[in-house]
Amino acid sequence: MIRCISPIDGTVFAERETLDPAAARDVVARARAAQNDWAARPLTERIERVMAGVARIGAMNDEIVPELAHQMGRPIRYGGEFSGFEERAAYMAKIAADALAPKVVEDSAAFHRMIKRVPQGIVLVVAPWNYPFMTAINTIAPALIAGNAVVLKHASQTPLVGERLAQAFHTAGVPEDVFANVFLDHDTTSDLIAARSFGFVNFTGSVAGGQAIERAAAGTFTGLGLELGGKDPGYVCDDADLDAAAETLIDGAMFNSGQCCCGIERIYVAEQHFDAFTAKVVKIVEGYVLGDPLDPDTTLGPMAQTRFADSIRAQTAEAVAAGAKTLIDPALFPRDGGAYLMPQVLIDVTHDMRVMREESFGPVVGIMPVSGDEEAIALMNDSAYGLTASIWTNDADRAEAIGDRIETGTVFMNRADYLDPALCWTGCKDTGRGGGLSEIGFHNLTRPKSYHLKKG
Ligand code: NAP
Repeated sequence: MIRCISPIDGTVFAERETLDPAAARDVVARARAAQNDWAARPLTERIERVMAGVARIGAMNDEIVPELAHQMGRPIRYGGEFSGFEERAAYMAKIAADALAPKVVEDSAAFHRMIKRVPQGIVLVVAPWNYPFMTAINTIAPALIAGNAVVLKHASQTPLVGERLAQAFHTAGVPEDVFANVFLDHDTTSDLIAARSFGFVNFTGSVAGGQAIERAAAGTFTGLGLELGGKDPGYVCDDADLDAAAETLIDGAMFNSGQCCCGIERIYVAEQHFDAFTAKVVKIVEGYVLGDPLDPDTTLGPMAQTRFADSIRAQTAEAVAAGAKTLIDPALFPRDGGAYLMPQVLIDVTHDMRVMREESFGPVVGIMPVSGDEEAIALMNDSAYGLTASIWTNDADRAEAIGDRIETGTVFMNRADYLDPALCWTGCKDTGRGGGLSEIGFHNLTRPKSYHLKKG
């Protein structure tokens, strides 16, 4: 049984039965039987149906927004995820014809030689609850457009999201067996992967979950995309616009109660700006309103689960015991308790503290002064993760040069916490491997097939 406990008040919001292994295998068998016909349809038809499904999610947005608040706690004032959801799907639809076109090497009287991109077959999408629509669509839209069947196993925290997606795509004409939303436990998921059920698995979630998926796939040669945790740094250089840096980096740290894979978790500031920068940060954070996500005034909702909030409380308490200083007064956030976690800004932190090394995935950020680029680069790289890094400077050459030396999937200059669908979403180190979105996303969701045709 899958049970979604609402972080708003700890009550059960939704329950669903998981599929038993035989029923799960049956879903895979039906997807396999349906995939060839789907892949044989014209690309334009697949795109049309997928984008019609995307539009149907938009039409349901007014129901989806409070539903998301109940499931994972994001305040309704932010209006849901439709804009990013649609932007990503639309971009992948736009580039599909080029990205999937055969690469003709020779078409002469003697030979026709080319590389086609053919679907992987069935793509399993294992999605997280933190941005449950946007993370899922990164793979679902291009996978379907490329001619794959998709099996979606969404997070237990957000069971209604998979149902919404299934409803949207099915009524838009994507056959039921081509897009299947399933409720699966971890063992059944692993067993299906180990039985070589899928041509490709995209997993977005924790490092431990990614490792479990990799173990399940071992020896099957199943393609894997693993989009895992992060401990993303921001670096405010000596020539940065401090107001813009403080505003964007703190939004990147605190939005969605810090539950963003590419949320800012640690900030390094040129030492001459340290006091001014932290003062600006504190002012912004003091303005947040922690409370019921269904209240339109709330800017910071509860974390998705009480245990997530407690683990950050422990990280913070440990850091304080080791000499860190908190800058936010708890009296400003009387709602703190249980899943509701007040935001916190820490200074006098070091890389010996867990809060600067382990993923917090919550509304806490540590800020350290640095003497210059060398120290900032060393500290940014002193991490097990590599998803994004956000550099604040007026000099694009400097940002690129620093970026070249950072072990990361994405380098941002003067922005943070945004997935550009034209760029590859990827990471290194414990953040995983693979790449979603962009032309590279299509390449991962298809396999190359070579044609060497000698005429006559
Ligand atoms: P999680 O516990 O790993 O869960 C993510 C998804 O994986 C859920 O659907 C979960 O199912 C499933 N799952 C986990 N372990 C599994 C296993 N052994 N077998 C089969 N399925 C398994 O992660 P989370 O706590 O929900 O999400 C937060 C994490 O995701 C953070 O570390 C965050 O950084 C990362 N994340 C990364 C990205 C990125 O693009 N790099 C994007 C978003 C989130 P159940 O819910 O049923 O357990």
